[in-house]
Amino acid sequence: MSRLVILGGGESGTGAAVLGKVKGYDVFLSDSNMINNEAKEMLSKYEIPFEEGGHIRENILNADVVVKSPGIPDTVPILVEIISKNIPVISEIEFAGRYDSSKKICVTGSNGKTTTASIIYFLLKNAGLKVGLAGNIGQSYAYQVATCTNDFYVLELSSFQLEGMYDFKADIAVLLNITPDHLDRYNNEMEGYIRAKFRITQNMSKEDCFIFCADDEISISHLNNIVLHAKQLPFSQKIEVKEGAYVRDDKMYVHYADQDYQMFLNELSLQGKHNIYNSMAAAITGKVLNIENEVLRESLSSFKGVEHRMEKVLKVKNVLYINDSKATNVNSTWYALESVNTPVVWIAGGKDKGNDYEPLFELVNERVRVIICLGVDNSKLHRDFADKVEEMYDVTSAEEAVNIAYRVARSGETVLLSPACASFDLFKNFEERGEKFKEAIRNL
Ligand code: ADP
Repeated sequence: MSRLVILGGGESGTGAAVLGKVKGYDVFLSDSNMINNEAKEMLSKYEIPFEEGGHIRENILNADVVVKSPGIPDTVPILVEIISKNIPVISEIEFAGRYDSSKKICVTGSNGKTTTASIIYFLLKNAGLKVGLAGNIGQSYAYQVATCTNDFYVLELSSFQLEGMYDFKADIAVLLNITPDHLDRYNNEMEGYIRAKFRITQNMSKEDCFIFCADDEISISHLNNIVLHAKQLPFSQKIEVKEGAYVRDDKMYVHYADQDYQMFLNELSLQGKHNIYNSMAAAITGKVLNIENEVLRESLSSFKGVEHRMEKVLKVKNVLYINDSKATNVNSTWYALESVNTPVVWIAGGKDKGNDYEPLFELVNERVRVIICLGVDNSKLHRDFADKVEEMYDVTSAEEAVNIAYRVARSGETVLLSPACASFDLFKNFEERGEKFKEAIRNL
């Protein structure tokens, strides 16, 4: 019996453990932190042994294969030892892919993954297809492969997940964009991050489709330097492409093989330049899968959006409050500010991953009237923006931020939480930051 050791008892780890068990492995799960109760219940339901709060070498180094959570860097001592013993280390997606013969639509990029994967999933569901949504979203891919059958999967893949993937093949791969993020994990080397993202194309053959953004310079320059067998389907808001999708005047056009689709941009339920990109990527996917234009139109015009991404919360005294807590880097905040057409009271800040705020200067000058800094250390925001806005405030809770916003915002303005930073200095995660923000608005 092969021994499968899982490192990390989160969503993907427990899912991989369940799949391993179902497939007849001798499974063991190890986590250096404490494992939550829900995961423990799952492990005991499937009679999977585990350890928590540390790794015991003897339990691990006898593995035939190790599945590692995407959150664990290769530099932790136990992994160094595993790798030095030549034990294969793979990601949960790679492992589950071995047992799944469905068609796989994989979405990666620095920003827009969850939104785009969710639109594609919605589209396939509306077309009546049997489809699962996994990766960074919801129930793990491995768990779903272990417990249900689907004809399609839409998988949201981060660069960390892609790193542990070798034989996995996407039938349709979507690369939305590449901007600096998580560089701390790549020794500040952009090249490593780009290569990880492009792993989404590995093993693809000429029957497969690669959907990418022709306006993204980093993607294009890397693409020009690699050999890719898949059919290339670009999308662009700047140039017209023969096959793929583009924008002309107020319409989006999609061509694939002998199929055409067009739609007015103002029909899209998700507004903003970034969502035009996301919608184009989804529309191309739809055409590749032969989904009818009517279903495409209905889906793209009724998709509700994902929580914490440019989520309209409430209008109070003619001031709109938007929760974009998921904007944890400069690029996503750029798109947030770009998509708001009123003066803005901008709530920003948090744990900065080495941000360069320069790309925001022009938009902040133009649109932002007040900045409320929601973070432990706001010095960089003050340094870069003090000369560009009328007023700045410092707060350490979402409630305080909302109370000040309520006091200073004028009728017709927008209060936008789009922090450009991670949330870990004051919150558990971006979800908690968004929840607290919304709660405070409802309490106004
Ligand atoms: P991810 O899963 O890649 O983190 P999300 O869909 O969760 O992406 O969106 C993260 C943030 O990026 C949100 O603030 C969202 O409004 C913004 N965003 C969404 N799509 C794009 C895009 N194509 N380009 C830039 N920013 C985007």
